[in-house]
Amino acid sequence: MALMYDHVETDTIAAIATAMSEAGIGIIRISGPDAARIGSRLYRTPKKEKTDISKWRPGTIRFGYIVENDGPNSESMIDEVMVSWMKSPHSYTTEDTVEINTHGGMFLMNRILELVLRAGARMAEPGEFTKRAFLGGRIDLAKAEAVMDLISSTNEFARKTSAAQLEGSVSDRIRELREKILYEIAFIESALDDPENYSLDGYPEKLMDTCLLLEKEMDALLSRAEEGRILKEGIRTAIVGRPNVGKSSLLNHLAGEERAIVTEIEGTTRDTLSETVRVGGVLLHLTDTAGIRQTQDKVEQIGVHRAQKALDSADLILFVIDSSRELSAEDAEIADRIIKKMEEGTKCILLVNKVDLLSEVQEKEVRSLFSFSDRCPPLLFCSLQTGEGMEELGKYVSELFHTGEIAENNEVFLSNLRHKDAVREARNSICLVKKSIEDGMSEDFFSIDLMNAYRVLGTILGEAVEDDLVEEIFSKFCMGK
Ligand code: GDP
Repeated sequence: MALMYDHVETDTIAAIATAMSEAGIGIIRISGPDAARIGSRLYRTPKKEKTDISKWRPGTIRFGYIVENDGPNSESMIDEVMVSWMKSPHSYTTEDTVEINTHGGMFLMNRILELVLRAGARMAEPGEFTKRAFLGGRIDLAKAEAVMDLISSTNEFARKTSAAQLEGSVSDRIRELREKILYEIAFIESALDDPENYSLDGYPEKLMDTCLLLEKEMDALLSRAEEGRILKEGIRTAIVGRPNVGKSSLLNHLAGEERAIVTEIEGTTRDTLSETVRVGGVLLHLTDTAGIRQTQDKVEQIGVHRAQKALDSADLILFVIDSSRELSAEDAEIADRIIKKMEEGTKCILLVNKVDLLSEVQEKEVRSLFSFSDRCPPLLFCSLQTGEGMEELGKYVSELFHTGEIAENNEVFLSNLRHKDAVREARNSICLVKKSIEDGMSEDFFSIDLMNAYRVLGTILGEAVEDDLVEEIFSKFCMGK
């Protein structure tokens, strides 16, 4: 496999590999050709003797001490440690690696790291160990990126998709697509070179079928990517409704504290308030809006403007209505705006609030707010005063965004923007191939765009193509034979 970068790293790097905070243990990782030498210089056995770590059995860990030279013939002990030795290529980075497990104090870890650097290692850059794992050919680029995502994941969905990506879910799917494309490129090349053995009769029709299939698969990846983004980054959620229906109460209920001011005077929530909460296993970035209504009040006007903005960029709208008061023109106006957003794919849940009070609104009337749309959002009857019905909200969110299904099916999610762009570009190239077929162009035209699709998908894995392509063509088709 040809890699995108062809230089080989030769220096030895080191860093604190565990969290930069006080903890039970801390690990200082040293990776590179000098790892064993540096480790041996600082490590002493339980009997305070020197040892050559490179002679240890690879994959072992030993108890001992880290020492510092403090005179011509004297050493002082810095910490009791466990030191492990992994020999290239069987390590995280594929290089010789020594890991010093110390006690987890910040000062202590930094002190030992300093000794390691003084002994000849260079401070590692962020992500450099993983970069070396990629350069060493142990993981592809998508997997290297998954490591980064895994570390920075903030919810279960993000963790799961990154872990799946690390296991190869994305890489495998991309490889499958590339293999299909490569087969076609190889076939065309072979047929052009060796027309006696490979016939192109009826080939364009066959290629068209393959292109349609590829396009469908890429479309599926792209549409799930959007769902993946929402679940990974959180759902932008707007709370809307006319004044006094319980919007601030909803925000407070979800946030579990008195975050927004709840009052009985209409229009007191003048600005938007934001909060991030976990509902149904996903993050909701909530924005409570000031009620979308025409107003003369200056401050409130700003609020109305922001409300509309929150609505515009929302993935989910929580529309609150007050069941203790009759529906008003304002409810209808908000519903109309929501219908428009729903047509663009925004999801909505309708909270019929204050069910603890005498009801003035029939379910039928609520539904009729959405009679102009082909679908009424799911209704949740609740009371933010008593909490009644609120436990259902998580279920509704999870159903709307298929979070349960995601947990069950092992779907592949492209959560990385770079990957999404690459798939989009590959899809465009496949569309160009289709166009060339329709226009009756010659076969070498197909190759150019197929090649581009293949190349651009390869960037997801971090592969350059040329050598790789030549090799594949020869191995698959035994040309010249
Ligand atoms: P907002 O203007 O839409 O943000 O509405 P608020 O959250 O400020 O609520 C307006 C008033 O309705 C407050 O007095 C709340 O205590 C009250 N309220 C909110 N939810 C309920 C409910 O479920 N039942 C009852 N009885 N009162 C509620």
